Amino acid sequence: MLDPSNFKDYTDTQWREKLSPEEYHVLREAGTERPGIGEYTNTTTEGIYRCRACNAELFRSTEKFPSHCGWPTFFTPLAGDSVIEREDHSYGMVRTEVLCANCHSHLGHVFAGEGYDTPTDLRYCINSISLTLEEKPVEE
Ligand SMILES: [Zn+2]
Repeated sequence: MLDPSNFKDYTDTQWREKLSPEEYHVLREAGTERPGIGEYTNTTTEGIYRCRACNAELFRSTEKFPSHCGWPTFFTPLAGDSVIEREDHSYGMVRTEVLCANCHSHLGHVFAGEGYDTPTDLRYCINSISLTLEEKPVEE
């Protein structure tokens, strides 16, 4: 029997039942929401950003920064093992895809060395629809 908390074992049908069509397209088909429309693009509310598919903690508001690229951006994930990064060769580009380490759902991409004034100079460019913000105080 399938363990309902083991999201890596979810079938396509189970994901379609759990997620809205828009969420499914981004999280399970590596879609990208249009820039500027995401609910968290310019959010500065303090809290933890969780995976919308499995609720794992992924990012914190304290590492979110305004990149003006049209999507929520973070300079580091909450922990190194919160996300998986892998090379993505779609659309004739070489990019680094960012996936939730817990359920392997697509979150967005990470870009390096763009000159942002952050501690890492990394830009984790994440779809709002892949995230759920849990508003709460965040310890530095
Ligand atoms: Zn997840």
